[in-house]
Amino acid sequence: MSRLDVSKILEKNAAERAKRLRPDGSEQYVRLSGEFAHMGRDPFADRVEREPRRDHVTFAFIGGGFAGLMTGAYLKEAGVTDVRIIDTGGDFGGTWYWNRYPGVQCDIASLVYLPLLEETGYVPSEWYAHGPEILEHCQRIAKQYDLYENALLHTGVTDLRWDDTTRLWTVCTDRGDEFTAQFVGWGLGHLSVPKLPGIPGIPSFAGHSFHASRWDYAYTGDPAGGPLDGLRDKRVAIIGTGATAVQCVPHLATACQELFVFQRTPSVVEVRNNRPIDPEWFARIATPGWQQRWLDNHAANMTAAEQPAEDLINDSWTTLAKRMRIDQQAAVDEADVARMSAVNATLSQVYTNLATMNDIHARIDEMVEDPRTAELLKPWYHLPCKRITFHDEYLAAFNVPTVHLIDTDGQGVERITPRGVVVAGTEYPVDCIVYASGFEVGTTPTGRAGFDPAGRDGKRLSEHWADGIRTLHGIHVHGFPNAFLVQPSTGGMRTSNLTHTLSEAAKSVAAVVAHAVGAGAEVVEVTRHAEDAWMGQVGANEGWLAFLGADCTPGYFNNEGGDIGAYSLFETVTTFDALGFFEHLQQWRATGDFAGLAFTRPGT
Ligand code: NDP
Repeated sequence: MSRLDVSKILEKNAAERAKRLRPDGSEQYVRLSGEFAHMGRDPFADRVEREPRRDHVTFAFIGGGFAGLMTGAYLKEAGVTDVRIIDTGGDFGGTWYWNRYPGVQCDIASLVYLPLLEETGYVPSEWYAHGPEILEHCQRIAKQYDLYENALLHTGVTDLRWDDTTRLWTVCTDRGDEFTAQFVGWGLGHLSVPKLPGIPGIPSFAGHSFHASRWDYAYTGDPAGGPLDGLRDKRVAIIGTGATAVQCVPHLATACQELFVFQRTPSVVEVRNNRPIDPEWFARIATPGWQQRWLDNHAANMTAAEQPAEDLINDSWTTLAKRMRIDQQAAVDEADVARMSAVNATLSQVYTNLATMNDIHARIDEMVEDPRTAELLKPWYHLPCKRITFHDEYLAAFNVPTVHLIDTDGQGVERITPRGVVVAGTEYPVDCIVYASGFEVGTTPTGRAGFDPAGRDGKRLSEHWADGIRTLHGIHVHGFPNAFLVQPSTGGMRTSNLTHTLSEAAKSVAAVVAHAVGAGAEVVEVTRHAEDAWMGQVGANEGWLAFLGADCTPGYFNNEGGDIGAYSLFETVTTFDALGFFEHLQQWRATGDFAGLAFTRPGT
């Protein structure tokens, strides 16, 4: 194993970070509202007018993505059948409803990413399923569990209010609905509010433009995964090179007359190795309980301190986790990495971060023909500072003669004109601009939700969470009776397989509600003491936070290099690894007394 010139790498990383720092931090972005509202509209389904609802349901859940689908499914399995799901989209699917850009696919192996495979009997076609198949699976779950029946789609919740007299929630929506629910829940995704770069001139562009999460197939042609015929005679710009762009650039590369990829920070692009799932192989492994075994194995491989005996998935994610556990101290000079080792528990992790980046650079040299373009595509930041991407065709797309990488030297696009995109004083005239500029992270959860629930005594959730999210297990909030969250913050944040976290949270919600209904309890609420005790175990690793702030290139992990803020992604449970957290939840449910929750019967 060769020794790395660690000092040189750290110097280069610091220089790249310095280039990207800007005083406006997260304020540089704008929402798809106001003058950008046209980019936020649903291009996939027309809104159908309907009468407002004034009725009552047992459980109302806001969000029709995997959180809502699994909560609905587990509630129904537990015998709570009167469930209503509300979503702003025209169908179920959440992130998979909105994100339909060409090439969209899951980054976690389908066998553990897609929930309820055993229950629905569905076998994914590929190791990393593409978006249309995932969206179809969402619809399959909704159909199997009769969730369409009572759903309110193309509907946004505007207010949620608890009434201590009736012991019911009132749900108000932008369709004039005002109905009551005994229980409410919400799971809105943590990367679901699209944002645009606040580049001057966006509204002045005379061509066509849209956000990648609102892909306009009417303009580009072919929603079914074939060639994008509408782009054949078009010069197209894509702004951003994150996970979205990495997946759609290879498709745009061969479809457009010319493609201009505007890059501020290059992404780490790891090996994907996608392949079909062989049904015969699957039939051999799919013995009863297979999906839970695979989920647990994946969670253990990703986050357990000890290397598990078996790695069922064995992909770039789990290989990286494995490399972190191998002792490679001989390959680094301790003095060189003192600062990083304060964050990463072992020198082997430091080495792995740097050595993996070395491999990433070597892969770029191997795949990109033009040496100058290859240099520009090399990321120079510490591996854990940004979300890793996975693709086997992205880098080679830059070998297509009509694809141009326009690197902005860390500064971003300067401005948009009626004719095109300007970088460092040069205008690139285009017919279409695709904004692959990401989603809001780190802003207030209630601001992103679009409603601010009023709990006991009218106290708003934003007040209770003024200093950050507070819960028991990421699910229960004191002062908000009969309300449940299905999301990772202050809960199972430590696995990259978000659907695993959501499924464990959904199972807890269903178990608690079924218990309350079965026991004739009208109200269930976490005690202040239980919430405080749980929050005593929750918190981001201080060393990691300091590292993110001081050493990482700006991005959504570190609030664009500014103050990390109260709502960062890293409010995580420090005392458990992912599997440990799930086992803790399972045991908590299995006891049947749901420690920390108070159940109240009528008249008490
Ligand atoms: P990201 O936030 O990851 O990327 C946004 C991109 O826009 C970045 O490259 C950013 O550059 C760039 N950008 C922002 N402002 C400017 C500007 N002024 N000029 C030029 N470029 C600019 O968004 P994505 O939609 O790509 O991904 C968001 C997240 O969604 C992912 O990290 C991932 O968690 C998830 N996702 C998951 C997928 C999956 O699992 N299959 C697929 C797609 C997304 P810079 O880096 O410099 O800020």
